[in-house]
Formats: sequence, C-alpha cells, structure tokens
Amino acid sequence: MKLTVVGKSPAWQDEGGACSSYLVSEGDTSILLDCGNGAFGALRKLTDPAGLDAIFISHLHADHFFDLVPFAFSLTNSLRGREVYGLAYSTEGVEQPIELYGPPASGGALESVCGVWRMPTMLFDTFEFSEYDPGGEVTVGPLKITFRAVPHYIETWAISVAGPDGKRLVFGADCSPNEALADFAAGADLLIAEATLAEPEPDPDDRGHMTPREAGEVARAAGVSRLVLTHIPDQIDPGWAVAEAGAAFEGPVAVAEGAMELDL
Ligand SMILES: [Zn+2]
Ligand SMILES: [Zn+2]
Repeated sequence: MKLTVVGKSPAWQDEGGACSSYLVSEGDTSILLDCGNGAFGALRKLTDPAGLDAIFISHLHADHFFDLVPFAFSLTNSLRGREVYGLAYSTEGVEQPIELYGPPASGGALESVCGVWRMPTMLFDTFEFSEYDPGGEVTVGPLKITFRAVPHYIETWAISVAGPDGKRLVFGADCSPNEALADFAAGADLLIAEATLAEPEPDPDDRGHMTPREAGEVARAAGVSRLVLTHIPDQIDPGWAVAEAGAAFEGPVAVAEGAMELDL
C-alpha cells in the first residue's frame, strides 16, 4: 500500500500548496481521502483523477471537500462526452463512475452547496454518491476502509485504510487531542495526524485542533509505527514541529508535503 500526500495545508493553502487530500493505492486500486481546495490540480500532477476508484470525505469543512466541484466539472466535461472545455483526460480503463463516500447526512449539505450555482445534483450526477456508515466497513478492491468519530468543530470522522497484507494507515482528519483517535489507530503502521497549531487554543472547552506535541502524544498512546504531521501551516517551522512531536513519540516523524510518498 502506498500513500501519496496530495495536499497538507490547513484551512488556507500553503504558498503553491493544496488543502487536505491523500492518495492511497494498492496495485490497480486507488482511493482519495479528502479533496480539499487546491487538491484537484495537485492530484492531476500525480495521477489521472478519472482513474480513481473511490473518494472518502472526513468532514464538511471547505478545506476537506471543496475540490470535488472542479473534479466533477472535469469528469462531466470529459467522461460524459461533453468536451466543452476540450479536456484531455484519458478514459481508458474507466468503466464505472468514481464512488464518492460522504459523511453521514452530508448529501443535503452537498446539494445545498452546489445549489448556489443552480446545479444541486452535480456531485450525485458525476460520482456514485453514498454516505458511509461510521459503524460499517467499505471495501474498495483489496482495501478495507473504516471510520471513527473524532472531536472537532463539526461532526468529523477519522479514516482507516487496511491493505491485503494487514498493513494499515489511519488518517486522523481534523481533531482536538482525544483518546478515540489513539484507540482507532492502535498498532497502525502509519498515523497521519493533524498538527495545525503552534499553541493549544486558549479555551480548553473550545478546542478543535492539535499541536505537533499533542499529535505525538496520540501517536505514542496508539503505539503506531510512524507518524506524519499534516494540516500544518507553512508558517510553522517543520523542524520545530518534528522536534515537538518527537518529544512525545519515539518513532519516526515527518511533516507532510505535497507529492510525498510513503510505502507501507
Ligand atoms: Zn481542516
Ligand atoms: Zn475541519
């Protein structure tokens, strides 16, 4: 199983960067975790987006799903035979629509967003849309995907992807320090954890993100093999972030960057 970081920016893009999006592939199967703003262009540099099998969205903050819109435009104007913009995506090997798995109760919200420009069903017309059951498991080719609610400002789900050889990565989505993610990621080969903050939010009762050290503490509690810090602004020194996380977690730590590849 291979992870490729498509975008790692927080709610605003790094200079030339993209927001939350991660490509996970195993053999001929590839899935996307999140599709934040800026991700579609970055994804095009890495692979033919039309060749994806499925997309999973962790939560409905803009930086995690907004580029579903340009993604859908590209597909409707190429795969569906309307070459309006003369896009040149290869449709070779694409026999069925890409599956889009939104969080529970996300269909209405996606409809409202696209309804602003009077195309409320554009995502449903383009992708094979469904809402995932957080208590269930989704199978895409050889990959098994499961979910766990984590504390954030809105309902948010961490996502686990297990490969056929038992290797497993966990994407923590956006979350404040919590035990649910550590439990969900227990023993995983890789934890991709957000480290948005240089300092914890001042109000302990109104937290939604973590510092690098807090991400390291989750990794230590989970006993994962390695940690990648993500959702981290380019204003934060990556060397400092790694040292902070390393103060809590003994395993390898890296800061995500666009096009970074990790083999599990
Ligand atoms: Zn975010
Ligand atoms: Zn968020």
